[in-house]
Amino acid sequence: MARIVQKFGGTSVADVDHIKAVAHRVKREVDAGNQVVAVPSAMAGVTNKLVDYTLSIGGADDTGEYDVVVSTGEQVTSGLLAIALQKLGVGARSMLAWQVPIHTDSRHGRARIMDIDRDQMEKALAQGQVPVVPGFQGLCPENRITTLGRGGSDTSAVALAAALDADRCDIYTDVDGIYTSDPRIVAKARKLDKITYEEMLEMASVGARVLQTRAVEMAMKHGVRLQVLSTFADVAGTLVVDEDEIVEKELVSGIAYSRDEAKITLVAVADKPGVAAAIFGPLADAGVNVDMIVQNVSADGKATDLTFTVIEGYLDKAIRVIEEKRQDLGYSEFISDSNVVKVSVIGVGMRSHAGVAQRMFQALADKGINIQVISTSEIKVSVLIAEEYTELAIRSLHTAYGLDAD
Ligand code: ADP
Ligand code: ASP
Ligand code: MG
Repeated sequence: MARIVQKFGGTSVADVDHIKAVAHRVKREVDAGNQVVAVPSAMAGVTNKLVDYTLSIGGADDTGEYDVVVSTGEQVTSGLLAIALQKLGVGARSMLAWQVPIHTDSRHGRARIMDIDRDQMEKALAQGQVPVVPGFQGLCPENRITTLGRGGSDTSAVALAAALDADRCDIYTDVDGIYTSDPRIVAKARKLDKITYEEMLEMASVGARVLQTRAVEMAMKHGVRLQVLSTFADVAGTLVVDEDEIVEKELVSGIAYSRDEAKITLVAVADKPGVAAAIFGPLADAGVNVDMIVQNVSADGKATDLTFTVIEGYLDKAIRVIEEKRQDLGYSEFISDSNVVKVSVIGVGMRSHAGVAQRMFQALADKGINIQVISTSEIKVSVLIAEEYTELAIRSLHTAYGLDAD
């Protein structure tokens, strides 16, 4: 007997018929003698609608009431899935985050899971029941509902798998695994049998939304066996594993992109000690995360340009901070641009091979694509380019690194 957490994404529970099909998937595991905890997302599109309602009435996305509203999509699918299971003769009950409870911190809209009480779920499992636990939601110390950030149901599922010592956490979605690049953009993307936690973590953090970053982080930390597979097809998915489980390491295993970027350039800031701190300190205080940064050496030793990127949704806030600090920073003007995309190549093979970044720069140069900002980590190279070149860049890089499917 195995213990499995099955998570179903929005398209997998898009309507009542899909939920019935999902119930059959859960039943199959139960019939095989396994214990199952099911974690549904909201129906596709529902969370977006709930977010729109909340923002349009003036509710901020970091408040308790925001979470009360946007967490409801998962409550609906949990109840429906429990009913669908009961109709198939499978014992099941919904168990909302406050009933488990799933304890989080108090950061509304982007809460972190602190602790999960396993007793209620254990009781249900011992009685042969399937607990259906809504993804995305938690309970904070102030006794209010929280949500875990967009795509957070993945994290709920992994956290439940860790808390319950599950043998596997299966993430069912609308693609049949993790690909070398987003299969919706790169027709020649190849499905990977396995990918390392580390690579998946980088891929998720630079935009591959197939798994939420925090879910991968948590799986890596707790050694959760994570699998991504299709709700709609009975084919093997992709396993996320430790590096030593992969025999043939590829130089580059994936290419990811994020359109959710904006670039700000401060023109002619003083080239003297303390300037970077004066800019990035107030941004951090305002909760604006800065990602890529480039600063030129000044030609005259006096002034230089400073360019950095932020998440697009934070652009207005960043601009407000920069305008407020104009006196202190002493720049001549600032330029902002949200028509940019960050494209990244990821692979643990980079650690031991030179020339990986160069191949990227050359491939982009061959297509006449200008690189605006570059950043690197041990297993990743990211570049910022104009958004209009997104598809061309990703496909060219996919070919340049020999990733295209035959
Ligand atoms: P769910 O609603 O099931 O959580 P998501 O939309 O969050 O599904 O994630 C699945 C989507 O992730 C796919 O439809 C695909 O377009 C996208 N995606 C991006 N990069 C990749 C990748 N490297 N491999 C597979 N899917 C990817
Ligand atoms: N429904 C939430 C969202 O759309 C959580 C999730 O689907 O993972 O972000
Ligand atoms: Mg998702």
